[in-house]
Amino acid sequence: NEQYRLALKRRGVTLPFRLNKNSSNYDYITKKVNFGIKHEQWMRAGFLGLNTYLLGELKWVLSGTLLLLLITLTCFWYTIKTLLNQQKLNTMKDDFISNMTHEIHTPLSSILVTADALKRFSYDEQHRNDYIDIILHQGKKLSGLTEEILTGARMERTGIALDDLINISDLAQKLKAGYHSVDVQQDAPSVVFKGNAMHLENAIGNLLENALKYNNQFQPLVILTFEVRKRKIAIIVSDNGPGIPDTEKEKIFDQFYRVPTGNIHDVKGYGLGLSYVKKVVEAHNGSIAVADNEPSGSVFTILLPL
Ligand code: ADP
Repeated sequence: NEQYRLALKRRGVTLPFRLNKNSSNYDYITKKVNFGIKHEQWMRAGFLGLNTYLLGELKWVLSGTLLLLLITLTCFWYTIKTLLNQQKLNTMKDDFISNMTHEIHTPLSSILVTADALKRFSYDEQHRNDYIDIILHQGKKLSGLTEEILTGARMERTGIALDDLINISDLAQKLKAGYHSVDVQQDAPSVVFKGNAMHLENAIGNLLENALKYNNQFQPLVILTFEVRKRKIAIIVSDNGPGIPDTEKEKIFDQFYRVPTGNIHDVKGYGLGLSYVKKVVEAHNGSIAVADNEPSGSVFTILLPL
């Protein structure tokens, strides 16, 4: 018995065993061996706890394999995610380029044609002025476009200073003057808070412009409401337009994202407005969300801490 134990130990096996003449309930039983000198005497060794022993022996191999499998799966998942992101970016880039080309091409052709006409023909004073006005108007449009893209990039670099004291009454008044067709309601006349007046006004202006430009109703109804909700100021823009599908509600705040409409560009835009609004709101430590309006349309709610 002792010799067999030592022989096993030398081979690195420390499993409990019993030398036996007949086989009984063991996990593993060796072949019969004849140890008799004069007569045949057969003996076999029975081992218990073989599975646990084997598992113990293989634990490093098994955990190594599992780790490798995990690493491979993570790499696989990461590759798929990157590919999908790449595809999304590609579609967004294509949409943006197609929109942009469209937007730049129209004023640019108009400027070229008008300038060419001015050069070729000698018009009277009145006509010349009209043509120059066209060039100026289209030039301003192009400059506005580049300005819009640059403002976003600049804001990312320099951030937004929040040191104006904003009075809700004044803000409501200014927006009312800028957007005659919007119904402005304010329930927080004496509220004053710190922020960036210019950017906040632009951001609300963007929401109002969207509410008006995407509206396909015979009688567009756009309401801007200011109200105080639990130490927060709520700025709500609601419209009775086409509304935004649930699947698009998150995406519309991404830069350059526009709700796909096939290849029809009936409403102009570059997908920059809402991403700008979100940046401004976040700079004020606020939040923005969009929901459906009843019976149709959207409700954009900005919440800013007071
Ligand atoms: P742009 O208007 O320049 O395309 P925005 O970032 O302002 O870019 O808007 C992103 C998208 O969200 C728009 O393309 C439009 O499809 C959708 N959207 C925004 N506001 C409204 C609204 N009030 N009603 C319906 N759709 C809207």
